[in-house]
Amino acid sequence: MWPAEEPWPYCEREHEASVLVKPDDVRRWRQILLMPKGERPELPDLDESEPEELAHGPIAMLPVMQLYRKDIPDFIGPADADVLQVLWCPLDHPDEHYSPHVFLKWRNTSGVTEVLVDPPQPVVVSDSYLPEPCVLHPEQVAEYQYRLLLPPDLSASIKDWEATSDLSYQSDLSISPGYKVAGFASWHLTDPYPMDCDECGSAMSLLVTIASYDGNGTEDSWAPVEDQGSRAGNDTEILIGRGYALWVFFCPQSFEHPCKASMQ
Ligand SMILES: [Zn+2]
Ligand SMILES: [Zn+2]
Repeated sequence: MWPAEEPWPYCEREHEASVLVKPDDVRRWRQILLMPKGERPELPDLDESEPEELAHGPIAMLPVMQLYRKDIPDFIGPADADVLQVLWCPLDHPDEHYSPHVFLKWRNTSGVTEVLVDPPQPVVVSDSYLPEPCVLHPEQVAEYQYRLLLPPDLSASIKDWEATSDLSYQSDLSISPGYKVAGFASWHLTDPYPMDCDECGSAMSLLVTIASYDGNGTEDSWAPVEDQGSRAGNDTEILIGRGYALWVFFCPQSFEHPCKASMQ
């Protein structure tokens, strides 16, 4: 839902990627792997990197999520916005902990008359940052604060309780894995660190999470309704680091202030 007359966003930051590949090569590679084994043509070589110079020019952003207020119970955005569009630059950024650079666009779609049919494609991508088109089936769940950010007494008593239980507060009960809007952030990779707005210094809040997997892979506690009893899938083909997630924060003072992301 991008207006035809509106310029498409490009990223001009510094990029790094061990292997640069063309998005169409990745799509072809994935299509071939879906074919029956005996009928597969030769796979494009995704180990051979395209020239590094291609990552130096402006890179067209890729759509990652489009969330409509009517579908999302915990939608966050300006009062007049009915959709949140999450895009990213599909390469690693040395000044952003080697993560994709996230770009947010809230809009009111009632003003959109002509939709851009063929958005610009990035010349090169990191293959794990090229999402496969999917439809989301949102469910509302209750979450609880990351344990180390709870009052110390409560945190200690949860730890004691865990010693007597088969459940883990972190992975089974407090913070859901998978794609989500709002809720609490997990800090299991680095321990908590402040996410403050670069513009005004305010403490930022979690807006969306872009995950490598829909569930946590081992337990059914957070499995989506339609996936109960089966292992968590990775339908989007997105892989953040070694199977982590990208937690995207916004500034509660202003939706105009730039977002920030943490990889956990
Ligand atoms: Zn970039
Ligand atoms: Zn701010």
